[in-house]
Formats: sequence, structure tokens, C-alpha cells
Amino acid sequence: MFAEFSAVTSGIKTVVDLAMAVVGTSRDAAVAAKTLELHSVAFGLNQQLLDLQARVSALQNENSELKRETQELRDQLRKRQEWEEIKSRYQLADLGGGSCAYLYLSVDGDQTPAHKICPACYEAGRRAILQKSGYAPQGAILKCLACAAEIIDHGDKPPSIAPIRVRKTSKWDAY
Ligand SMILES: [Zn+2]
Repeated sequence: MFAEFSAVTSGIKTVVDLAMAVVGTSRDAAVAAKTLELHSVAFGLNQQLLDLQARVSALQNENSELKRETQELRDQLRKRQEWEEIKSRYQLADLGGGSCAYLYLSVDGDQTPAHKICPACYEAGRRAILQKSGYAPQGAILKCLACAAEIIDHGDKPPSIAPIRVRKTSKWDAY
């Protein structure tokens, strides 16, 4: 685009230079006056061309900005659609004692293991799988590695501890 502008500007300059050359060789006052008029018109044209070039440049910048914004909105829309798809695979489940987590809904042929995700992270628009970090007396402790939340799964009770057998010792055991 700017190459074309430069070519036109250069063309106008050539016309003016030729006209000035005519003035230099002619002794006719009318030719000189018309040539100066031509020079003035050419100068005006050149100025308009420069203004036009500036406007085209501004429009090109605006166009680039709009393209960038469009791409950003497309990316946001794609991420939102992906998240909606992920969300549809989970259902809020009551873990007892006022605790809740989102439970993975398995579909036929799905190899994904059963798991739960953090409700706080879900609300923030991300999937964070809860990891069992141990047991509290009320149930399993599920920890979110993304936001550090701990949720007690009251349906997963601590395994009962087998009674420890105490072997009777006698004074002869050392021998
Ligand atoms: Zn979380």
C-alpha cells in the first residue's frame, strides 16, 4: 500500500520538476504563470496524499487491534465451551457432614478412574482433582492441590485398625 503512495508522490514530483524545467527554458510569462499554478496544485495533491497515507496507516493499526481483540474473544469462547463440556461430566455430591464435592460421571467405555473435584475450584472455572491425603476420625481427608482446601468424605471411613497381638515373652526368648 505504502509503495503505491510513494510511487504517486514520486510521479507528482517528476511532473513538478518537468514543469519547473519548462519555466526555466521558456520566456513566456503565461507559461510561467500556469507552470507555477501547476506547481501549487501538485503540492496540494501531494499534501492530500500524505494525509490519506496517515489515515490509511491509522486504519491499518485499528484493523490489527480489532483482529487481535477478535482472536482474544474467540480464545475466550473456546475455553468457555471446553469448560462447559468438562462441567457436564460432573455432578455435585453430598459427602456427609455438610461436605460437598463434584463427582465424575462415568460414561460407557470411559477409562477415566472415579474421582471427585474441588467445589471451590469448580466455581472458579477450573477442574482440580481431589487427592486423598489420609483419614480424620470422621472420614477420608480429600485435599485440593490447587487451592489447598481440605474436604472430609464422611462416606469413606477410616479402616479399622486390627488389634495388635502381643506375644508373650519369657525369659528364655533371649537365648
Ligand atoms: Zn480447589
